[in-house]
Amino acid sequence: MTYLDALQAINPMAALKALGIEFTVSGAYLKFDCPKCTMPSIIKAYGEKKNLIYCPKCKASGHIIRLTMEKKGLDWEGAKKFLKECMPTDKVITQKLNFEYDLEYSTQLEARGLSKEFCKKHGIGRPKGRTMLAGCIAFLILDQERDPIAYYGLRIKDQRPVFHKSFSPELYLYNFHSIDPDEETYFTTDIWKCLDLIQKGRQALSNFGLPYLSSSHTEMLQKIRTVVYVKDQYTNNIQKQVMNMGNYFRFCD
Ligand SMILES: [Zn+2]
Repeated sequence: MTYLDALQAINPMAALKALGIEFTVSGAYLKFDCPKCTMPSIIKAYGEKKNLIYCPKCKASGHIIRLTMEKKGLDWEGAKKFLKECMPTDKVITQKLNFEYDLEYSTQLEARGLSKEFCKKHGIGRPKGRTMLAGCIAFLILDQERDPIAYYGLRIKDQRPVFHKSFSPELYLYNFHSIDPDEETYFTTDIWKCLDLIQKGRQALSNFGLPYLSSSHTEMLQKIRTVVYVKDQYTNNIQKQVMNMGNYFRFCD
């Protein structure tokens, strides 16, 4: 296995998080402070150069395994093992969720234009009590049999995603269970936009804010006859993937 193959198996967002490195998403790249000069360094989030790091300021280059070795004082194999253990699961959830949050309608939902009835019907709200998703808006995720399998959360104060380790957003599209593949379907990376479309009676899907389509997302989208992609800051990333899918598509604002 070459080091480029090894790098393909690593999710850079999960890796940076595990290393305690703050980052922002910018198109196909993640930006974080360069360990050498503290200016913004960039790491490619996917594609052939996935997980390669470059600092435009001090020209330092490297990759996520090397960064892990330095940060954690590990050797090559140790760093790979560390990264493997902090990767999100690659297995879809097969067991029905064994708990249910008591969800409260909140002003945040009202501000998003989502009605109380709509949120109740779709399992959206602020969980009451002490839960992992305290301080979040929780979204219930259903599988193809319409059984609840997970909650996805967005922290109210900064919109950061929060969810259980057994749930990997790369393996699901929000609302996929309710899609008639013969009907025109909207796709947006923004779960709020997705909900707005659903409330307006459209078929809509979201990939939970990820800046790219995973192979599972692509597979699911290919099952739909016509997909309308809502343009946003990630459209450039997604465009090439969309063109290679073979089903009808268009982009809209
Ligand atoms: Zn630098």
